[in-house]
Amino acid sequence: MSRTQTHDLTTRGTDLNELDRDELSTAAEQYARNVQESHVESPIGDIELARINWKASSQLCRSGAYCETELDDPPVHTIVLSYPGYRAWGWDRMTGVIRHELAHVVVNEQFGDEVRPHGTEFRDVAESLDAPMRGEGPIPYRYKLFCSRCGSMTDGLYQASDRTRNPWNYTSSCCQAPLQVETEEMWR
Ligand SMILES: [Zn+2]
Ligand SMILES: [Zn+2]
Repeated sequence: MSRTQTHDLTTRGTDLNELDRDELSTAAEQYARNVQESHVESPIGDIELARINWKASSQLCRSGAYCETELDDPPVHTIVLSYPGYRAWGWDRMTGVIRHELAHVVVNEQFGDEVRPHGTEFRDVAESLDAPMRGEGPIPYRYKLFCSRCGSMTDGLYQASDRTRNPWNYTSSCCQAPLQVETEEMWR
């Protein structure tokens, strides 16, 4: 996506909680520029943001995001954001995730793989960005399947399927009883 579209996205008054996957990575890229401009004391100022590739993944559910750095000269970074995480948490909470990943970018550039991912160097940079020390953990399931007899959870899912629509057609392995489904309301 081009910079012009990014501009449109924010000036159009787009609801930042209703972005599609491409719009999310574009909005994150734009947000990173805002972070750099508003955190003048932070070492993020030394980072050339054009060397960060932004992606949003529908598959990433084990964490809110991750950052990969190729330690070339100059280094190139890829930040992958969890689209399901965004759908579950909304934009505001994702901005914390984005600042956390930007702190990884700074630490990776300054120290390469010499330091621990969330060590003291990271803490200093995270503080300079008002970023949370911990990235967001696994995305809460959108659907949870339970055994209707003993109540134990049998599975968690991020997408609707026949099992979430017709759970009573399926049986639990624990009690051979029909399944029940619970839908997480926080998801948009
Ligand atoms: Zn982290
Ligand atoms: Zn059971």
